[in-house]
Amino acid sequence: MIRCSIHNHTTYCDGRDSAENVIRAAIAQGFETVGISEHSVFPEDPPSGMTPEGEPALYAELMALREKYKGQIHVAAGIEQDTFSPPRQMPWEYVIGAVHYIRTDEGLTAVDLSPDVTKACIDRIFYGDAMAFAACYYRTLAEVVERTDCDVIAHFDLLTKFKEIAPLIDTKSLRYRRLVSDTLDALLPADRIFEINSGAMSRGYRAEPCPGDWILRELNRRGARIMLSSDSHAAVHVGYAFPQMAAYAKRCGFHTGWVLTAKGWEEAVL
Ligand SMILES: [Zn+2]
Ligand SMILES: [Zn+2]
Repeated sequence: MIRCSIHNHTTYCDGRDSAENVIRAAIAQGFETVGISEHSVFPEDPPSGMTPEGEPALYAELMALREKYKGQIHVAAGIEQDTFSPPRQMPWEYVIGAVHYIRTDEGLTAVDLSPDVTKACIDRIFYGDAMAFAACYYRTLAEVVERTDCDVIAHFDLLTKFKEIAPLIDTKSLRYRRLVSDTLDALLPADRIFEINSGAMSRGYRAEPCPGDWILRELNRRGARIMLSSDSHAAVHVGYAFPQMAAYAKRCGFHTGWVLTAKGWEEAVL
């Protein structure tokens, strides 16, 4: 079983609990590694990221917590770096690269804030063409490794976060599938880890993990590496749906996932 959860948020950004409470929750659930990967500083929308002072403060806090909990769990210090954030200030142990915003004629627009924001963006900026919105998202995602030098690629099809409550994009269309395929063509040569993410499930938006199963099958067919992520915003969700995600990955052809240990990245049986 995978005993590593390194995509978790805290009160340094939009999470509900302190880093220490997240760590304690992970220990209680039997994890061997827990990581905090807070949202990078984001000057265009300050509440969506850490403050510039918060980034070094969190890093220092995590170094102290690593010492405090040594022998019980490995505390990893990472960051979820948005493509449009300024360069990070601290030597984070791992980077999760993410696209939460797209750049349009109106500046930076959030991809997954709410169904209403996404619909308004499609109607106003893309003249109602949801596939043009999707193309803009995937063009940005295709550059995520280049822009963030990430180890892990976050929530590949984030733009479908609300598809079960407000379907805006025809994900079965040939045009959409081509966008996904082109993005995989761009990203796979860099050999980074793709995450399976239960963040939208724990917050009640989706019943299934992200990405969609046909994308996961395609990742498997093309030899990609995966990692299980809770993307938790509350300590109680630190290992949310891990057994379900492991079963989902197995159904899509995977036998192993990647975990971060005190010694570095390792492959582990799902
Ligand atoms: Zn994210
Ligand atoms: Zn996140």
